[in-house]
Amino acid sequence: MALYSIVIPLYNEEEVIGECIRRVVSVCDGIDGECEIIFVNDGSADRTLELAANACKSDKRIKLISFSRNFGHQIAITAGMDNAAGDAVIVMDADLQDPPEVITELIEKYNEGYDVVYAVRAQRKGETVFKKLTAKAFYRFLRYMCNIDIPVDTGDFRLISRKVCNVMKTLTERNRYVRGLVSWVGFRQAAVEYVREERFAGETKYPLKKMIKLSLDGITSFSSKPLTMSKNLGFIAAAAGFIYMIVVILQKFVFGKTVQGWASLAVLILLMGGIQLIMLGITGEYIARIFDESKNRPLYIIDEKYNFNGD
Ligand code: UDP
Ligand code: MG
Repeated sequence: MALYSIVIPLYNEEEVIGECIRRVVSVCDGIDGECEIIFVNDGSADRTLELAANACKSDKRIKLISFSRNFGHQIAITAGMDNAAGDAVIVMDADLQDPPEVITELIEKYNEGYDVVYAVRAQRKGETVFKKLTAKAFYRFLRYMCNIDIPVDTGDFRLISRKVCNVMKTLTERNRYVRGLVSWVGFRQAAVEYVREERFAGETKYPLKKMIKLSLDGITSFSSKPLTMSKNLGFIAAAAGFIYMIVVILQKFVFGKTVQGWASLAVLILLMGGIQLIMLGITGEYIARIFDESKNRPLYIIDEKYNFNGD
């Protein structure tokens, strides 16, 4: 019988976890096959760990990995994949924005022979206009920037086959954009549409800062276009400067006008300084990531594991 691993990252989800377990377990009961539910506690500061550990005691299908601190959503998913034993691995959020019932549809597609079945958000409920707009814009911007085809309006809610999971385990990059990596590995991929529900309870664990970090990871892991663009911008600025220099020289020697006014000069200096800083910053983003990679630290540190064989 097929074994399905359901990976669910948890970060301060005490208000959600009970309902999450109830709904996921009821989906598992209806599935033709066995299930393991792998919770990854990403350094929660509330009662999440306690509640998840209790659930492990009453149901052996529920497993738990607890990190030593908060490593971030993408790393938590990675740890879940690394520890999953299933023939297929399903990743979903704890807050029930990804309805567990969709898992059945993902598995149906998987049984048709697909290796990656991703869930596309046909509609997003209960999220701020700001979040919806930035997310929409970001997915399209990323597609424009990247050399690979990353599906738009698609989060990490998806199913991957054992084959894909094994390949994912060999990709050890640190600043991870998991959904991009899954597209990058290839294989037969299919989509299932779903309506993204409102968060069941609690607040989003993705404040603007984390959203920006995730977007930068997405862009920098899959594209070097920002570097090319900053180089091109440099050329344009230099060419404009050169043309202006000729204009100034002509004014002085042909038309006999002396250049006056410091205002235009100040504007130019500010503009050029700004452009240079932006370009340096873009380069810096890449260098910071090279730095991270070269340290070669482990991706995550596990504090405790529950219900895994031999632990
Ligand atoms: N999450 C995590 N670590 C973090 C932030 C979030 O494991 O540092 C988990 C969180 O518990 C949830 C999932 O990632 O299961 C998605 O987070 P959230 O629902 O807050 O994001 P949103 O849906 O608002 O983008
Ligand atoms: Mg959510």
